[in-house]
Amino acid sequence: MRLFGRKKTVEPEPVEEPPAPTLPTPPPPNEHGLRDWTAQRDWILEQIQPLPPFGMHVLDALGLSLCEDIESDVSLPGFDNAAMDGYAIQAADTKGASEKRPVTLAVVGEIAAGTVADRVLAPGTAMKIMTGAPVPEGADTVIQYELTDRGAEDVQIFAEIDVDKNIRRLGSDITEGEELLQHGDVIDARTIGLLAGIGIDKVLARPRPRVVVLSTGSELVEPGLRLTELGQLFDSNSFMVAAQARAAGAQVFRVGAVGDDPAVLKQTISDQLVRADLIVTTGGISEGDWDVVKAVAPELGMVDFAKIGMQPGKPQGFGLIGDDEIPILMLPGNPVSSFVSFEVFVRPVIRKLLGITPVERPTVTAVTNTIIRSKPGRARFVRATIRTDRGGRRVVEEVSGHSSHLLGGLQKSNALLLIDDATEVIKAGETVHAWMLDE
Ligand code: AMP
Ligand code: MG
Repeated sequence: MRLFGRKKTVEPEPVEEPPAPTLPTPPPPNEHGLRDWTAQRDWILEQIQPLPPFGMHVLDALGLSLCEDIESDVSLPGFDNAAMDGYAIQAADTKGASEKRPVTLAVVGEIAAGTVADRVLAPGTAMKIMTGAPVPEGADTVIQYELTDRGAEDVQIFAEIDVDKNIRRLGSDITEGEELLQHGDVIDARTIGLLAGIGIDKVLARPRPRVVVLSTGSELVEPGLRLTELGQLFDSNSFMVAAQARAAGAQVFRVGAVGDDPAVLKQTISDQLVRADLIVTTGGISEGDWDVVKAVAPELGMVDFAKIGMQPGKPQGFGLIGDDEIPILMLPGNPVSSFVSFEVFVRPVIRKLLGITPVERPTVTAVTNTIIRSKPGRARFVRATIRTDRGGRRVVEEVSGHSSHLLGGLQKSNALLLIDDATEVIKAGETVHAWMLDE
């Protein structure tokens, strides 16, 4: 129907707010309200992408993941060269030579490494040659100084020598066009040597993740300063976790301790986002009145706090915060809990950012000499020392003390035993699984 002269009233379109992004559904808790630690770790890892690669100097790529295939543009050696200091000669000229009846050849030139002979070597002559110098045309062998009188004008040869002695042949190590390295290889010192040796100074690699580490707690004092009041203690976590992150391959920014003030903490974390691929905090995530990380984190982005079926390290927080959805791992504050939580959750995240597999430490098996107890219903990470006995067996000793504040015992241990949530007791002589912390 036509609307003669009448104005149609236009209803304003309702503006639809986009739904706030949320984290994917976390793993379900068991009947005790605890999540499985492996499920939690895998859930976190699903939300972490390896960092995009860029071109960097080979030396800066130590420990990083190569993101290109490399084939050689050159052969190594690049030319036939002397493997010893001596004389380039023709082997046939040494026929019958001995200490008693040496052969004498005229020395017609000298070739140092980096120089080239000015002529073709003629039969009956010799050229002095240094290790690495190009073997002159006409020569078919190099006789080392030790079998000569080291003469300058003439040289006396004391032994017969075969052709092809003491010559490093062109391409005998690497041939031009050979595929040497593959996408995903981890760049170690030997790889850097090879890259430089074939003339490559820059490679495409995933960068070192920038990891910001901060601890929380108004009781914490920076080491090097003085404890002035009862109740204070030195901040060990931010140092330990920073060191763990560095050992895992990260570039670390240690912020240090922030007091339990929500406004200050929120501002501090926000300020760090620009330089972080990952943020790690310790403390302030349990059920206490001053658990400031737990209070502030929801204001920064999508976060999740959970109880995990593990000891130590039951409370854990994870989130993606800020405009760029930077991952944040919020660890409990007791030093041993922080340490173990790092091993369980943070190290795999750093490895995934690096693009290095496997993300997990390899598990080894070892035999325990003593009884080890655990509470069924949750996994236990036991501080232990593992030594290899004379028979080559790994033997475990639990480091005494279960409490999570025991820095001294932690320092003495070199392994974490992985006791699953179904195990109550491991008897002497039984086998346990472990992560070696120094390998
Ligand atoms: P929280 O998780 O913040 O309740 O801390 C648990 C316990 O760990 C408390 O006794 C803290 O004093 C201690 N703690 C927390 N953070 C650190 C730290 N950075 N260094 C040493 N001890 C800490
Ligand atoms: Mg605290």
